[in-house]
Amino acid sequence: MQKKIVVLGSTGSIGCNTLEIVQNFPKDFKITGISGNKNYKLLAKQTKKFVPKYAVIGKEYEQNLKKEIGRTKTEILTGMDGLMEISSLPEVKMLVVALVGAVGLKPSMAGIKTGKDLALANKEVMVMAGELVRSAVKKYGTKILPIDSEHSAIFQSLDEKNLDAVNNLFLTASGGPFLNFPPNKMHLITVKEALQHPRWKMGKKVTIDSATLMNKALEVIEARWLFDMDFSKIKVLVHPESIIHSMVEYIDGSIIAQLGRTDMRIPIQYALTYPKRKKTHINHLNWEETKELRFSLPDEKKFPCLKYGYTAGKTGGTMPAVLNAANEIAVNNFLKGNIKFTHIPKIVKYCMDNHVVVRKIDMDEIIKADKWAQDFAENYIKMNHDK
Ligand code: MG
Repeated sequence: MQKKIVVLGSTGSIGCNTLEIVQNFPKDFKITGISGNKNYKLLAKQTKKFVPKYAVIGKEYEQNLKKEIGRTKTEILTGMDGLMEISSLPEVKMLVVALVGAVGLKPSMAGIKTGKDLALANKEVMVMAGELVRSAVKKYGTKILPIDSEHSAIFQSLDEKNLDAVNNLFLTASGGPFLNFPPNKMHLITVKEALQHPRWKMGKKVTIDSATLMNKALEVIEARWLFDMDFSKIKVLVHPESIIHSMVEYIDGSIIAQLGRTDMRIPIQYALTYPKRKKTHINHLNWEETKELRFSLPDEKKFPCLKYGYTAGKTGGTMPAVLNAANEIAVNNFLKGNIKFTHIPKIVKYCMDNHVVVRKIDMDEIIKADKWAQDFAENYIKMNHDK
């Protein structure tokens, strides 16, 4: 029987890869809903190809999308209401959350509450509300299948029956494009340079986050909640070849790792087919080309975002949401050319330093903290970096 799937963020890099996998296994999956924000041309193409029951687009692009599609059986919905509707469809078994940023939080919760398994690429959901998401998953008896490559690796290496015997989780980091960049020249980094990731092909936001190591900071918090592991057991290791995607170290000294090519289609496919594995058309790792595997500890002075991630995570409450929102705004402004690369961690720190943490959280508190940090960061940038 075909598993019915909704893909939130189908026009992004993860979304497109997901649809490609679905296309490779037409007997196994059926796309019931897709969504895009602005890219109505691509969403129209996907709608014509997969003929889902629903397609969701940002409100202001509704007419463009309808015109582009022409006659169709697909119902067009818009905005957050549309996302919530397709995330709650009773016939759907799996929600692929490939949105970027805080926008994925509410639809993810709606999916869990209506009994869906989540294939989660949108790490901000776990960063902002990991505790709430974790308890909702437990209450409604669903699963989260991580798509983030590091978390997929840990998910595959973790022995569920021996969680007490886990000594450390090692999240590997490529180190990004500036691993060997002179620390005193970091303020000169251009947007173009920051968008050149040495290993992974990804969307803009996560590529910049990889360059600042904020991506790893968010992934540490994500791992905390996905695997219910204390921060003291979550370590980051720089591994420029990105062949080991992450590992689990047990108390007996054994280390179990997942290795493979740097191709997001591998973790996406595993999340979709779990607990089964299926043959892929992707080239496998070529050991003749694999000359060496290097490791080093991250330089927290040069990449302070990593440290801020641990601080925010350990502080808990609304602080991770603030870290995430301040970073979203800072990255946006960097991409627009409004601020320097080195301003990103400064803005994040400034927001964290000025935030009054709310410890007992619910969805409203998280959304309030997210909004507060966005406004606070924007104001700070306006005051200090007006061109
Ligand atoms: Mg990752």
